[in-house]
Amino acid sequence: MKILLLGSGGREHALAWKILQSTRCDQLYIAPGNAGTSQIATNLDLSPLDFESVKQKVLELGIDMVIVGPEDPLVKGIVDFFKNDDAIKHIAVIGPSQKGAALEGSKDFAKEFLLKHNIPTAAYQTFTKDKINEGKAFLETLQAPYVLKADGLAAGKGVVILNDIAEAKVELENMLVDAKFGDASSKVVIEEFLSGIELSCFVLTDGKSYKILPTAKDYKRIGEGDKGLNTGGMGAISPVPFATDEFMAKVEERVVKPTIKGIIEDKLDFKGFVFIGLIKVGEDPYVIEYNVRMGDPETEVVMPRIESDIVDLFEGVANGTLAEKTLVIDQRSATTVMLVSGGYPEAYEKGLEITGLDLVSDSIVFHAGTVLKDDKVVTNGGRVLAVTSYGNTFEEALKKSYQNIDKLNFDKIYYRKDIGFDL
Ligand code: ATP
Repeated sequence: MKILLLGSGGREHALAWKILQSTRCDQLYIAPGNAGTSQIATNLDLSPLDFESVKQKVLELGIDMVIVGPEDPLVKGIVDFFKNDDAIKHIAVIGPSQKGAALEGSKDFAKEFLLKHNIPTAAYQTFTKDKINEGKAFLETLQAPYVLKADGLAAGKGVVILNDIAEAKVELENMLVDAKFGDASSKVVIEEFLSGIELSCFVLTDGKSYKILPTAKDYKRIGEGDKGLNTGGMGAISPVPFATDEFMAKVEERVVKPTIKGIIEDKLDFKGFVFIGLIKVGEDPYVIEYNVRMGDPETEVVMPRIESDIVDLFEGVANGTLAEKTLVIDQRSATTVMLVSGGYPEAYEKGLEITGLDLVSDSIVFHAGTVLKDDKVVTNGGRVLAVTSYGNTFEEALKKSYQNIDKLNFDKIYYRKDIGFDL
């Protein structure tokens, strides 16, 4: 089978690495990919958002399956684009329809879905510009801290949590009246603050049945102790020690099953990954958010823990036969530590040579923001490399990642030395 994977991050390198272990995959293309993916498959100079060019390439190369890594093409309707075109509608696309992708693309839609299907989540209300006074009045009914969320995609920056009510009201104005996040904040979800510890649950679905993939916990902030600015993610571990069997049984009953039932009832036409951002409050799971694709860097620990053939599972997703497939999970722990460019998540340099890649042993280096320049691997983004290791415990796995990180270098390299510190 010829497979095209869309995206260019560490997530896509990890997916590519896993896809290439499948006997079903004869040829793998990645658009646009990075230096790491170019070493194991064929990169294509193509934007995943340019659907027409994706179509032409798919036809030219005789692609059988397309796997969509990031959310943007999904939210913009790439799955529907394929379905509505006679020339390409027979091609399997792993990802939800645009309607299904609204679970990530609109926080208001996601909250309505959660409420409708009785899935535990924070109490909320949504406001538009003409209802700003009602929004301020709703804030008065809540206790600090105040959680304000731009409805649409805002590159992970659209959630603002404030302790002071006056500041919360100003922020509401900034979002609704001054369009702080452009169109994305034309609606704002205000919700109750939940206090607990977060984790991510990943589900693969064919729109009827589901498989629960390994859990993961990521570390979002740039600074140690999880302080400082938000990033795309600085590291991750899997499994999550506090996601006990008892807790995961609650997640399956209260969250996963009603989510799949809701997808069926609401005809969301969802064939792909559901990433459920959870918070454990006491012993109970609550949903913070849905994403409609795998997480990054969680994929860099989840894929290495899947023993089954991922392309076989994807075929189950595409054909609606996922229930017949088996999912085998590696019982070891996996951890990943992100190496980032100094300055990230604010301004940083690109084009810095990365050294030591050939010295790494007993860890897997997944590339994120890298590119080949004159046969050298150089930095090309804020998040540069993810160093993944296995271990009998997550501490053992982390030790290996950190030992290998000592061999890697680029100018102004930065990484957190405390991944897993809170567990
Ligand atoms: P991401 O960048 O993870 O995709 P996002 O911008 O889509 O995030 P959310 O995941 O909804 O937004 O929220 C971002 C973060 O804000 C959460 O990971 C969590 O730490 C915090 N948060 C969101 N909602 C709540 C809540 N109701 N109570 C407490 N913390 C919350």
